[in-house]
Amino acid sequence: SRFATASCNCLGNTNIMNDIKKGIQYAFQTSNNMTLAMSGSGHTAMECAVFNIVEPGESVLVAINGIWGERVAEIAERMGAKVHTLFKTPGGHFTNAEIEQALAKHKPVLFFLTHGESSAGLVHPMDGVGDICHKYNCLLLVDSVASLGAAPILMDQQNIDILYTGSQKALNAPPGTAPVSFSERACHKMFNRKTKPVSYLLDMTHLSNYWGNDGKPERIYHHTGPVSGFFALRESLAIIAEMGLENSWSHHTEIAEYLWKGLEDLGLKLFIKDKDLRLPSVTTIAIPEGYDWKELLAYIMKHHRIEFTGGLGPSVGMVLRIGLMGYNCNKANAAMVLAALEDALKQCRKSKA
Ligand code: PMP
Repeated sequence: SRFATASCNCLGNTNIMNDIKKGIQYAFQTSNNMTLAMSGSGHTAMECAVFNIVEPGESVLVAINGIWGERVAEIAERMGAKVHTLFKTPGGHFTNAEIEQALAKHKPVLFFLTHGESSAGLVHPMDGVGDICHKYNCLLLVDSVASLGAAPILMDQQNIDILYTGSQKALNAPPGTAPVSFSERACHKMFNRKTKPVSYLLDMTHLSNYWGNDGKPERIYHHTGPVSGFFALRESLAIIAEMGLENSWSHHTEIAEYLWKGLEDLGLKLFIKDKDLRLPSVTTIAIPEGYDWKELLAYIMKHHRIEFTGGLGPSVGMVLRIGLMGYNCNKANAAMVLAALEDALKQCRKSKA
């Protein structure tokens, strides 16, 4: 039956998958044929990209300015790549000159950069990075899990070779699917390997057939896709297409600016000083002096039922983080967060104790 086919391997839903592909092409601003959604969260797309592009022993350059670069460096290390890193403490970003110098030195096959560094609240400048990578015959891999739909990223125009995101951030879908797209250059590298990728599940030769991207007349069962997650992802991509990317970006910026102003009015310091480098979907506040950040989070959870988070990975102890993205990104929520924080700042001052 149709249902049995659908629940078994999702191949009963090829139209849904085709719609998802078109929706991702729009959201990523790409015409790449090799566009699909991974069955799994953002990490799945991260591993898929590294496993399929890089062969053991090849050189990889990873920009680390928060937790996501750390993770990619570890993933690449585990599959036997020669990992080189460019490093900044959370909140820092890399100039094109710094990137170029490292590419010339290490001659990597792949360079990884996080567009929306959610552990630091930084949106990384992308202009020119793709061109520099190609000058050194290197592919550019970009993580847009926390930024897609909230801050502009233009895959084809910015010459990004592999771009991925997650379903559960500004896209508003449940977690469990992860859009990803590969340029022609990236396809050339990954489909002309000497060795097979370490993961069977994430092998793009299988996934490209499963998604009808390999030009073969028949799609063959590879794994059972998260069918309900695909339906939800299709709807979320349709919503963002209907709204328009530009409107989604400007809406996130407008609400973020309202929040930033409110935070500064409370006497708080934003962790990312340069407004143009702030990620609209995740705002980071420098931990105010005279407060225990864990106590602030616990107070807000207990008295206001709002989950604030501290830092993540290397930014733990440096920041408080507020996520306002997708459906949750509105003035009422921002105002609620500001009121909760104002109350917590009155109640939790250490000198009171
Ligand atoms: N990259 C970034 C920038 C993220 O913010 C996240 C999730 N917070 C991930 C990757 C990992 O995504 P997931 O939790 O969906 O695996």
